[in-house]
Amino acid sequence: MTVRVRFSPSPTGYLHIGGARTALFNWMFARKHAGTFILRIEDTDQKRTVPGAVEAIMDGLRWLGLDWDEGPDIGGAYGPYIQTQRAALYQQWANWLLEHDHAYKCFCTEKELDTMRQYQKENKLPIGYDRRCRTLTPEQVAAKEAAAIPYVIRFKMKLEGETSFHDAIRGQIRFPNQQVQDNILLKSDGLPTYHLANVVDDHFMQISHIMRADEWISTAPLHVNLYAAFGWAMPLLGHLPVILNPSGKGKLSKRTQAFNDDGSQVLVKVQEFQEAGYLPQAVNNFLANVGWQSGSDEEKFTLASAVARFRLEDVNPAPSRLPYSKLDWLNGLYIQEMEPLDLAKALKPFLDGAGYEVNSEALLAVTPALRPRLKRLSDAIPFLQFLFAEQPLSLTPDQLVHKQLPEGAAAFREALTFIETVEPYTVDRLAEGLRQIGEKHSSNGKAGPFLGVMRLAVTGQEVSPPLFESLYALGRGRAVTRLQQIIDLLTA
Ligand code: GLU
Repeated sequence: MTVRVRFSPSPTGYLHIGGARTALFNWMFARKHAGTFILRIEDTDQKRTVPGAVEAIMDGLRWLGLDWDEGPDIGGAYGPYIQTQRAALYQQWANWLLEHDHAYKCFCTEKELDTMRQYQKENKLPIGYDRRCRTLTPEQVAAKEAAAIPYVIRFKMKLEGETSFHDAIRGQIRFPNQQVQDNILLKSDGLPTYHLANVVDDHFMQISHIMRADEWISTAPLHVNLYAAFGWAMPLLGHLPVILNPSGKGKLSKRTQAFNDDGSQVLVKVQEFQEAGYLPQAVNNFLANVGWQSGSDEEKFTLASAVARFRLEDVNPAPSRLPYSKLDWLNGLYIQEMEPLDLAKALKPFLDGAGYEVNSEALLAVTPALRPRLKRLSDAIPFLQFLFAEQPLSLTPDQLVHKQLPEGAAAFREALTFIETVEPYTVDRLAEGLRQIGEKHSSNGKAGPFLGVMRLAVTGQEVSPPLFESLYALGRGRAVTRLQQIIDLLTA
């Protein structure tokens, strides 16, 4: 079978992490089966469409590396891939349903529907469309049309029995037909609802498998009946597991902000993960673990190896939380694998964003020493303040006192002379010379006390890259200036 799957977001805003998980699973499945991954924009609910959302969604997918083979920007044999550009097709098939007695025109006004709902509420009747237009006679319909009353087209749902279907992740699912409404398929503005557009597109785009969020399960019985009415074979369905808040309580919402146990905000937009300094490969790895048993105990794996092992049957239907704490850990591991040059390049936008004047050579010099200390790319910002931010050192003399360093100022003076003259100015030579100075001036004969105070003096930071790399990255000129400032501070 040719695998053709789609990610079909509504352009209501950014790419949500739950949407990214849906996209990822579809993408993995497509790549595993050498199939096609399609991006389709479901924008028929114009009221909810947000300008710029399509670009934002595409940017999120691109950042994650989830490339699509057909889509609005690149086209394909089954386009267009934006539903509002396909209105004529939906109208054609809505009319087909009318002609074949699977649908009817409903002329109810908003006001009538409100009154109906009010009545249902007051009389404790089930809420929903009471199908009053389903029984209009052809003459009544003709009269309303002649009076140009706007209408919608509703599906004629079976009134009895049940609809059952196989879900590749959840097994057999049954729904009593009575619970399914005569849903609107085509609105009075001529645009389809999600249901009609989704079914028509999945059919004409020859979608083989539908993997989508669990929240669509309740629409599946309607869709199954729509496929049956059209006489079309339905793609295989699989509803992905619910994603829970980190607390495990409640679904991770698109609309309300969730919080971690420590009170920090839960990241939900893919862009927020990017801005927080996560790497796309870490985010993909993290998301692949949400509801999928990778078939091995390894929690860290490449996307390529996940693709090779991915099977729909191994997706676990149980709700799953996003293990945010794992993400930091994974991200740290991915950072360790980066070549210094690549890491320096990846860090640069974060440092620029912090308003630093980044000198690429200095950044590259300090990157190897920095790498083991990073969990997120943004962690580099406080670490490298001393190197790129033009802030004065705000140290007090007592911060530079150490009980095993009785003559601190003298040690710094000697270090200054050494730094002014050492040749070549390299990490190794700096280490060698400064260690000797430290051993000489510390009362215990060890370099540690001096080097600790010196690191603080040079960087002004409690946490920073190691001393020798920091000095090297600063360059001789700036290192001398700093040391002079420290000596002035100590001898003032
Ligand atoms: N447009 C729907 C959404 O935004 C897609 C649902 C589906 O995949 O069928 O979630």
